[in-house]
Amino acid sequence: MKVIVIGCTHAGTFAVKQILKRHPDADVTVYERNDNISFLSCGIALYLDGKVADPKGLFYSNPQELSNLGANVKMLHNIISVDNTNKKIKVEDLSKHETFEDTYDKLVMTTGSLPVVPPIEGADNPRVHFCKNWHDAQKLFQIAKYNKRVAVIGGGYIGAELVEAYSNHGHDVTLIDTNDRVMHKYFDKAFTDKIETNYREHGVKLNLGERVQKFAGQDELTITTNKGDTVVDMAILCVGFRPNTDLLKGKVDMMPNGAIITNEYMQSSDPSIYGAGDSVAVHYNPTNTSAYIPLATNAVRQGILVGDNIEKPTVKYMGTQSSSGLELYGETIVSTGLTMKMAEQDNIDAHQVIFEDNYRPEFMPTTEKILMSLIYDPNTRRILGGALMSKHDVSQSANTLSVCIQNKNTIDDLAMVDMLFQPNFDRPFNYLNLLAQAAQDKEIK
Ligand SMILES: Cc1cc2nc3c(=O)[nH]c(=O)nc-3n(C[C@H](O)[C@H](O)[C@H](O)COP(=O)(O)OP(=O)(O)OC[C@H]3O[C@@H](n4cnc5c(N)ncnc54)[C@H](O)[C@@H]3O)c2cc1C
Repeated sequence: MKVIVIGCTHAGTFAVKQILKRHPDADVTVYERNDNISFLSCGIALYLDGKVADPKGLFYSNPQELSNLGANVKMLHNIISVDNTNKKIKVEDLSKHETFEDTYDKLVMTTGSLPVVPPIEGADNPRVHFCKNWHDAQKLFQIAKYNKRVAVIGGGYIGAELVEAYSNHGHDVTLIDTNDRVMHKYFDKAFTDKIETNYREHGVKLNLGERVQKFAGQDELTITTNKGDTVVDMAILCVGFRPNTDLLKGKVDMMPNGAIITNEYMQSSDPSIYGAGDSVAVHYNPTNTSAYIPLATNAVRQGILVGDNIEKPTVKYMGTQSSSGLELYGETIVSTGLTMKMAEQDNIDAHQVIFEDNYRPEFMPTTEKILMSLIYDPNTRRILGGALMSKHDVSQSANTLSVCIQNKNTIDDLAMVDMLFQPNFDRPFNYLNLLAQAAQDKEIK
């Protein structure tokens, strides 16, 4: 079996390793147009913030490791076309400036995503940057010292983390977003109000409800929005990602945004072509629909499934709750599944309970408050989403809620499920039990 893998960051790296684990005799060639593999972009903000001392630690694999496993690794090779009728690809060797063809039995499309570049005048200004890969990261690291006035455009997870990192290091930071709340896609207002207060207390200017219309300037950058001008030294555009799948346009089924649609074995509508990671759609369990959710969590799982299924359908994809989290100014902020806002937008009949409690008894020397939200179907009582925010590390509780959604548990299951008690950690009922009990109380008619 001759397998070609296009693109090797997370989905590609995991796919290659799993293909060779399951099929040591497979002939696997990896083409990657960059000069590195497996870069963890989530470390960019951590390095800028000084929490990660050496950015070289942000790689967990390398071309040599994949070669040692038996892969034929071709770095600095860009795939320029795919002929799926004849199972051929056209490759450009970027160092020799030569092109050649290669053939496959199975093709793995792990070409990931590209940052969305909105059609804004001056978006190509050299003072406007992106935050995606190792090259972007190196640039941001080099210029941080000399660019004290920073605008981050887009208040999703990536923008939110960058804002915190710059504001912790004496930068003058402005966050601009068209929405009137930060991280509005991930958290409801009770959470984003607190997050916004934290930002303001750390000197961050929040220009919310503003649409960027123009970038201009050489020695400094003027950002014009519908509400006025902001002058900075640099801007980072973090307004989202789109699937990088033009190679297969018109050749396999895709969502309207270009995300490849796969079956539960990660196989596209062309059975010889598999996909994983940011280039494909996920199955979103809370709504039982296809969605585009570019996360490393999805990429590594789907990469492994490609390896499991490359020869024949073997292991089914479980889908995702899109669980994610971040830490801002010492607060853990995590979510899984639906927010109430998402449920309303999608006309999903959902109820929400918001509950605040200390994570452990007040007789302990210290305790911390946790703000919690639970979204559930009032008819079936199934849990559809949840969020937590606290100075206490509550990250694993989002994972517990994720398992509940995956397993179709109800608020009644969560209210009474066995969870450990010891005053160092929680009360006789864990705070997640109490959250679900608050939902039960709300439903008493
Ligand atoms: C700043 C930042 C922070 C993030 N933080 C988190 C986080 O905390 N948690 C989380 O779960 N996710 C996070 N993500 C998302 C996560 O990084 C992505 O979901 C993940 O990188 C997707 O991996 P991938 O391998 O599918 O695609 P990509 O990372 O996009 O990699 C695709 C690869 O394909 C190569 N390629 C593309 N086209 C070609 C071609 N024609 N020929 C050859 N090679 C090609 C590219 O060079 C690239 O190496 C973050 C992303 C960013 C940018």
